[in-house]
Amino acid sequence: MTASPTDWHSQAQNFGRIRFYQGDITKIDTPAIVNAANSSLLGGGGVDGAIHRAGGPEILEACRRLRAGHLGKGLAPGQAVMTTAGRLPAAHVIHTVGPVWNGGQKDEAEKLASCYRNSLRLAAENQLDSVAFPGISTGIYGYPKAEATAIAVREVRQFLAQHDFPNTAVFVVFDDQSRQLYEQELSK
Ligand code: ADP
Repeated sequence: MTASPTDWHSQAQNFGRIRFYQGDITKIDTPAIVNAANSSLLGGGGVDGAIHRAGGPEILEACRRLRAGHLGKGLAPGQAVMTTAGRLPAAHVIHTVGPVWNGGQKDEAEKLASCYRNSLRLAAENQLDSVAFPGISTGIYGYPKAEATAIAVREVRQFLAQHDFPNTAVFVVFDDQSRQLYEQELSK
């Protein structure tokens, strides 16, 4: 049985304009959810695979059109682009490419921060009320979770403080370790 979109609303924790939820981001009915994509935009594992599976072929078709157009070389780490969300309960998917963790000396922190900022900027430009984020780069791309969580929370807090849109951001995590890290960081 799939969770109804209303389930997460009652289970989410609230930290001002930031909400926090442990579960599957493909079930979240915010105007936009963020995908931790790869540069090809043509699908991958982890949350990317889950989003394309649940959202159906419309998302991949939209990504292929972007690749055939101005994103011929793919999307660079730190950048973000928005497409339809296909059959997902969200209306849009914001695809962003996190940095692959390489020891921390390759600008990973700045690239990860840019993922959050550029995704939020797209939401703001489109006057979207809310956007949900997975833990970008913290899966296959190997970014240490504690550092990634600190960057995510810092960037989202800063952006929300300076903008009316989006009104809220939702952090969505899968595993218990990430849940603890976000709870700690959001309580600071
Ligand atoms: P990356 O390649 O950027 O590291 P991954 O998809 O491998 O991206 O992982 C990013 C994070 O998303 C990980 O913390 C992983 O546990 C989490 N994740 C995977 N699937 C989902 C999902 N369906 N909903 C929410 N988070 C997910």
